[in-house]
Amino acid sequence: MLGLMQDWPLTVDKILDHARLNYPRREIVTRSIETGGLSRTTYYNVWRRAQQVTNALQERGIGLGDRVATLAWNTERHLEVWYGAMGMGAVLHTLNPRLFPEQIAWIANHAEDKAIFFDITFTPIIAAIAAKLPNVKFFVALTDRDHLPKADIPNLIAYEDFIEGHTPEAKWGGFDENTAAGLCYTSGTTGDPKGVLYSHRSNVLHGMAANSVDCFGAGAADVVLPVVPMFHANAWAIAFVAPMIGSKLVMPGAKLDGQSVYELLEGEKVTFTAAVPTVWLMLLNYMQENNLKLSTLKRVAIGGSAVPERVLRAFEEDYGVEVIHAWGMTEMSPIGTIGKLLPDHHAMSHEEQIKTKLKQGRALFTVEMKIVDDEGVEKPHDGKAFGRLLVKGPAVARAYFKNAGAKNEKGECLEPDGFFDTGDVATLDELGVMQITDRAKDVIKSGGEWISSIDIENIAVGAEGVANAAVIGVAHPKWDERPLLIIEPKPGAAPTREQLLAFLEGKIAKWWMPDDVQIVEKIPLGATGKINKLALRETFKEYRLPSTQAAE
Ligand code: ADP
Repeated sequence: MLGLMQDWPLTVDKILDHARLNYPRREIVTRSIETGGLSRTTYYNVWRRAQQVTNALQERGIGLGDRVATLAWNTERHLEVWYGAMGMGAVLHTLNPRLFPEQIAWIANHAEDKAIFFDITFTPIIAAIAAKLPNVKFFVALTDRDHLPKADIPNLIAYEDFIEGHTPEAKWGGFDENTAAGLCYTSGTTGDPKGVLYSHRSNVLHGMAANSVDCFGAGAADVVLPVVPMFHANAWAIAFVAPMIGSKLVMPGAKLDGQSVYELLEGEKVTFTAAVPTVWLMLLNYMQENNLKLSTLKRVAIGGSAVPERVLRAFEEDYGVEVIHAWGMTEMSPIGTIGKLLPDHHAMSHEEQIKTKLKQGRALFTVEMKIVDDEGVEKPHDGKAFGRLLVKGPAVARAYFKNAGAKNEKGECLEPDGFFDTGDVATLDELGVMQITDRAKDVIKSGGEWISSIDIENIAVGAEGVANAAVIGVAHPKWDERPLLIIEPKPGAAPTREQLLAFLEGKIAKWWMPDDVQIVEKIPLGATGKINKLALRETFKEYRLPSTQAAE
């Protein structure tokens, strides 16, 4: 027997429509790409202009399923193109400007993008690759005629001219909720980048899950600042969540440094914000150097890589801001777990709570999770046993675009039991709290046991004079691999090998102690702000540990 409720396809156009009808005057503030100043608009205006985008796209021959790309910061215009394309059933493809131009061209060609909207900051990238993009019919610079770049880009038009004269009367929705809505490529640290193709349904469901009370928990009274870019896995759903709930939205544009983010947090009275740890390290340094406080911020979501203890403590203990530690990945839309404490944790000491909050947390509703060994046999939930972390859910990828990396004859990227292998290694405890111990390819195998590089890094980054820390496995004749600690000092600081090792002592198991420490000027970061271990392994490929030399 079927239920007797209405048919209301879960398509994302309904989200902005809801904002237009219920929060028409709620503000969206953007740091202008052209001037660095602040511009202000409303959900009503964004809806209106997004409708114009749809009409303008359709007039130029863009239709259902066509890929429309953006190479853009978080701005009101990006949001308009986002909904203008998705609303009509085109696929909004976010290109990541932090990749190399050749990689961006490869991805745009693989996606067969028909149009690219770009911020003028990225004009040199577009000028360099435009001739290599045979499928792109036109380029739109996200600016007005006065700021239109004078570059050699064919079929180029300024955004304001592109939408001008188009009516705000486009038809949105009316298609199956499983229709593709967005496309985002993984950064391709292993092999070619792979396209994750979100559906309308997956975005709507994930947006609702991401805003559950124990996760973002934002409401109409909140002021939300997504520092995490829209090109990084849906801005962690915030581009859907904010219009769903009618919160004020603050878009940081191109300026993500500590001072600029601080100015927005205070100036716009932000209550909730989200970004990767590197952004928060910059903000905290800026605030500490200038002796500043936060007067309105209540919650900060941190994910993309593990939250360093010093960041957690600074926010919670020094500034009274609650940290929501989140784990996820592009393939999961992206949020999988949240680190909010359970009633069982409330009885624990503050130090125990901090330890728990440094873990990646428990599954969001819509996410199923398990850890297994190499044979696929489930490992116990005792907080100790490591295993490959597998996930399943309505906002988890089933296959990559064009069946890249397929694991079965249906073209799916799934294990035989239908779960997706995250590539992470984790533990799960009795309360369902998950802890990432490593990416499978970064885990250090020493004497048949696994050492978690992440754990050591998180502790080392708290040592005096340390700006960033990385741990990689280095070949060892007796133990297989041993950890090498690589340190990027803070400007002007010169921490020594002995100081760093003394700092770690007692905080990690003896056999986890790095065999050596190397100081580098800069630890390389990848396109999503994470430590680029591949590059580090390359740099240190000739390096031999002192313990190896001794063993020889
Ligand atoms: P990319 O592979 O493009 O860097 P993602 O941004 O999707 O893509 O990265 C997902 C990965 O980032 C996860 O599989 C995990 O290894 C890591 N990650 C994300 N959040 C956390 C976190 N809170 N703690 C530790 N690792 C994390």
